[in-house]
Amino acid sequence: MPHNPQDSNRHITLIGAGLAGAVLATLLARRGWQVDVYEKRGDPRLKGYGGGRSINLALAERGRHALRLAGADDAVMAQAVMMRGRMVHFLDGRTDLQRYGRDDSEVIWSVHRGELNVILLDIAERAGAHLHFDRGLASVDFDARTATFTDPRDGSTHTAGFVSLVGADGAGSALRGAMASQTELGERTEFLGHSYKELEIPPAADGGFSIEPNALHIWPRGRYMCIALPNDERTFTVTLFLPNEGDPSFATVRNGAEARALFERDFADAVPLIPNLERDFERNPAGLLATLYLDSWHLDDRAVLVGDAAHAMVPFHGQGMNCAFEDCVALAEHLDRQPDRAAAFAAFQAERLPNARAIQAMALENYLEMRDRVDDDDYLLQRALERA
Ligand code: FAD
Repeated sequence: MPHNPQDSNRHITLIGAGLAGAVLATLLARRGWQVDVYEKRGDPRLKGYGGGRSINLALAERGRHALRLAGADDAVMAQAVMMRGRMVHFLDGRTDLQRYGRDDSEVIWSVHRGELNVILLDIAERAGAHLHFDRGLASVDFDARTATFTDPRDGSTHTAGFVSLVGADGAGSALRGAMASQTELGERTEFLGHSYKELEIPPAADGGFSIEPNALHIWPRGRYMCIALPNDERTFTVTLFLPNEGDPSFATVRNGAEARALFERDFADAVPLIPNLERDFERNPAGLLATLYLDSWHLDDRAVLVGDAAHAMVPFHGQGMNCAFEDCVALAEHLDRQPDRAAAFAAFQAERLPNARAIQAMALENYLEMRDRVDDDDYLLQRALERA
């Protein structure tokens, strides 16, 4: 049972037990805060991720710093796969590894989203956070400081008091919607006009990886591209990025047969690697890509947003989660340092909003670079000179 939060000046209520929610819960619980976390979905540790799709994320040093502070780095790294650089797949089948740094001290890591979430939830609970699953935030009474949650299994509603709410409930944040009814957040969403679909490269016949495991594979093709990140289970998650309009686009590549024709023409060396191309293409949903800008991330001392809820971005810099983890470190520090929560939230926003804006811009720029420039001869020469 959650205790009465009004009794405590070190109580906080988090909405969302995804990546940011679980890390922030841990950081605050480790600092002695009483933390209640409400998550819309069921407990993924009960259902398991075994049969589900593998979706992976690039974890960088920025994110690992937060994981170390949360005591989660060792457990996460035990299932991470090192990516030393980009493996560019040219149209003629040639490949070229472009290293991220001079040696293996400058690399990024591929982590399985589902496994990462499970590890972080275990660590949050062990740190003392109270996790409440099947509790989707439905409405907030900011005057009474009560939040109402719906249980998606039976539609029942549950109300809990709060001192402050932290929205770690992702790009479609319900808390952000509730805050917007009280104050002007300056919210705008810019859609990229491109979407993505995930496909899978299974293990090779001998059970190993079927292509170089320690790389982020890219098939750049000008206006569009494919990427593939390795999973510790010896598979790769392939993501196809296409415009929504034009040719080719998700308007012209509409089914498995059309996807196969596109791959045979433009990603020929990937075709034998993806035996279930048609099935994956037709079964997996297309995801939209957008950047979310807000001018304000908090409502006085009553609510604040972190992670995608505050600054969702396109995934081309692989920094959305890493940036969300940095938010968690910053917010935990400001809350600890500054007993006036409105001041702590304002200081958090002042520190992090300019950073988030810069990373959002870099993520948009990187789409042009990844799909267009990494196979450009001048660009390759310049990179080679930089590395020399
Ligand atoms: P989420 O991970 O979305 O978690 C939100 C949580 O809140 C979920 O558990 C959800 O169920 C819960 N929730 C939602 N609504 C409610 C509600 N009403 N009440 C209670 N709970 C609720 N980032 C990287 O750093 N590296 C990458 O390589 C990378 N690749 C990406 C590839 C793709 C295709 C995409 C789309 C994103 C990628 N990202 C990457 C971005 C990354 O996924 C996000 O930035 C990250 O998940 C943000 O974490 P979050 O905790 O803020 O939100």
